[in-house]
Amino acid sequence: MPDDATLRSALADYLSRPHADLRARILDLLATEPFRTPVEIEREEHRARVLAAVRVLADEGFGLLALPEAQGGADAPDQAIAAFETLAFGDLSILVKFGVQFGLWGGSIQQLGTATHHERWLRRIGTLELPGCYAMTEIGHGSNVRNLETTATWDEAAEEFVVHTPHARAGKEWIGNAALHGRMATVFAQLSVAGREHGVHALVVPLRGEDGALLPGIRIEDNGPKAGLNGVDNGRIWFDRVRVPRDHLLDRFATVTEAGYESPIESDGRRFFTMLGTLVAGRISIAAASVSAAKTGLTIAVRYSDRRRQFGPDDGPEVPILDYPVHQRLLLPRVAATYALHFAARDLIGRYASELGGQGAGDVPGEGMREIEGRAAALKVLASRHAVDTLQASREAMGGRGYHAANRLGRLRADVDVFTTFEGANPVLLQLVAKGLLTQYAEEMGDLRFLDIVRYLADRAGTRVRERNPIATRNVDRDHLRDLDYHRAAFEYREERLLESAARRLKRLTDEGVDAFEAVNRCQDHLAALALAHGERVALDGFLDGVARAPSPGVSETLADLARLFALERMEVDRAWFLEAGYVEPVKSRAIRAEIGVLCAELRPVARMLVGAWGIPDGVLAAPDALD
Ligand SMILES: Cc1cc2nc3c(=O)[nH]c(=O)nc-3n(C[C@H](O)[C@H](O)[C@H](O)COP(=O)(O)OP(=O)(O)OC[C@H]3O[C@@H](n4cnc5c(N)ncnc54)[C@H](O)[C@@H]3O)c2cc1C
Repeated sequence: MPDDATLRSALADYLSRPHADLRARILDLLATEPFRTPVEIEREEHRARVLAAVRVLADEGFGLLALPEAQGGADAPDQAIAAFETLAFGDLSILVKFGVQFGLWGGSIQQLGTATHHERWLRRIGTLELPGCYAMTEIGHGSNVRNLETTATWDEAAEEFVVHTPHARAGKEWIGNAALHGRMATVFAQLSVAGREHGVHALVVPLRGEDGALLPGIRIEDNGPKAGLNGVDNGRIWFDRVRVPRDHLLDRFATVTEAGYESPIESDGRRFFTMLGTLVAGRISIAAASVSAAKTGLTIAVRYSDRRRQFGPDDGPEVPILDYPVHQRLLLPRVAATYALHFAARDLIGRYASELGGQGAGDVPGEGMREIEGRAAALKVLASRHAVDTLQASREAMGGRGYHAANRLGRLRADVDVFTTFEGANPVLLQLVAKGLLTQYAEEMGDLRFLDIVRYLADRAGTRVRERNPIATRNVDRDHLRDLDYHRAAFEYREERLLESAARRLKRLTDEGVDAFEAVNRCQDHLAALALAHGERVALDGFLDGVARAPSPGVSETLADLARLFALERMEVDRAWFLEAGYVEPVKSRAIRAEIGVLCAELRPVARMLVGAWGIPDGVLAAPDALD
């Protein structure tokens, strides 16, 4: 095995791929002004600094990464996400403002618009010449986007759309960039043409003039102080019969011509899901950024715990707190899970970029993208939960020192908190993931088809789930417990078994005459468990691929131990299920717990190296006086 320094540098090199140079450029910027947000700062000043930071990023060309080459872009969606992932080591207000401008505002024009829109707006968005918003959520409707109430009514005579807020609670809510800086917005509204409703569509609506003053018919209110992310100017928007021309409809999936409404996708439901699906980069980005936030927390906490000493034998020096098994259990499984999510997110980014690369301009995204959407939703849930949980654990691991503002953990935890809510509230996303798994062969979205698939799956219940091996359920040999194939099999077994049992349950309910909405509701807990099991299986697969591709000897072996710790710890957390399902017997469940302790102790000497390999420079990590 290589020595520690060699191992650390080989691991850091491996983890920085792909796009190591791009990541290094952003890390350099994060250590400079205006990226180093003071720990005490007024909201208005914070917002001004955040805007200045996003301007620097735009000047450096980072806003153009995802855009087509024709608009001065790099046509590199994976680089755009890598940039976002790296920015998440800094002030998350800067990250979110950057994401709103280039990912949401720019992304919606790029994904939902066509050549005219791209030519007119994309370059100006990518350079921040045209700041804008992504206005989907309303006061009355957040998760239930399909039922939002803003209207866009086609006025045939004037050849214009009339965008209107029918009542106060249909106002747009939480819209990033709206309170101060946004000059235009992609507005999601119910489209009506010649008296017929066609569901939610996106239109571009100007909000402010060149001088920053609100345009006629637009009313905006600041959302005010938030629990975190106070450098972002979120606001509410109401429209009073605002008129926009025909070509402001983002028309990749539907147009309005002299002949009326036209769309290549007949079903309103399928069009809606296809449209939202094209915006999947937002969810992938939030998953990747959550991993970065967890890395920051753990780097600070592990470094501190390695040096902080408390208690010790009567005749010896005090002991570093990371030598205590309970402290190891607090931090090291979270380090392992962060590694798992790192590889799963990188794998997903790669899949997304190659799927997009294979798409022609006029293509409707197909099955490949559907699978990516499911993975993105599951990983977004796992990673955002993990970040919140890890930042809390990191804070506690440092005792009072973790509560010092200069150590950033408090603000970081407050900022990352909402990652569990925006880009889809986690509990809602879990249902989406489960429904996606149950309808994976479906060509049409919609409840009818969904239930057909449930029947199909239920009919073949039992044929897919691997037989439980009665010897394996009691096997407590170390080699077996550490066998990565065993872990993979356990995760696959849990997912398949949950899929088939959920399908059977849904079928029984519908056979009894329970309607689809109610049947799904009665199985919500089951569906959530299925979605989480799917997400963890995807995370483990991503991790094991990362292990297999890693340089050896050294990096691959170290990562394999972390993968073992991740898998066994997840099994321990869900041991109630594994015991109920008879997949492990109590003796094995106890052995798994003991093995986690052994792995933690084995990894303890390299703990500092493991977080160091994430490569977050001191100048980015925290205020210098707060570190050892
Ligand atoms: C800081 C911030 C920035 C934002 N930026 C933007 C932006 O730029 N543009 C934009 O359009 N939006 C933005 N949002 C809005 C965000 O996307 C929504 O808050 C989110 O979609 C959730 O909607 P909601 O707040 O109405 O919650 P709700 O949908 O009301 O959900 C409340 C709770 O109910 C649960 N719930 C809802 N339905 C179900 C169900 N069927 N089963 C079980 N549980 C359920 C949810 O999981 C959640 O826990 C932002 C929000 C915040 C806080």
